[in-house]
Amino acid sequence: MGSVTEHRPTAWIPDEEWCLVSSPRWCRMPKCPSTAVAELRRRHVTHGFQWWAYCTGHLYGRKIENGVVMHEVFVNAPIYKRWQAKREMPRA
Ligand SMILES: [Zn+2]
Repeated sequence: MGSVTEHRPTAWIPDEEWCLVSSPRWCRMPKCPSTAVAELRRRHVTHGFQWWAYCTGHLYGRKIENGVVMHEVFVNAPIYKRWQAKREMPRA
């Protein structure tokens, strides 16, 4: 088993499940008095999906950079490799 202190390189990439709020909303966390800054697109059993809005304090470690919600991932994670492959795809 690997040690938890083992250094694993990470990188910040756009989180495609999240986007900035399109209209003013409150953070959905109970008792949170802040206005939301970003929304998570969550799959919903019957409605297809729903947008869940959160304030800067409730982004679960994400940050907003140049209007894009970013999250930190391990560079050896499949999600990072997928994003990298997409970015390196030649433009037609
Ligand atoms: Zn909040």
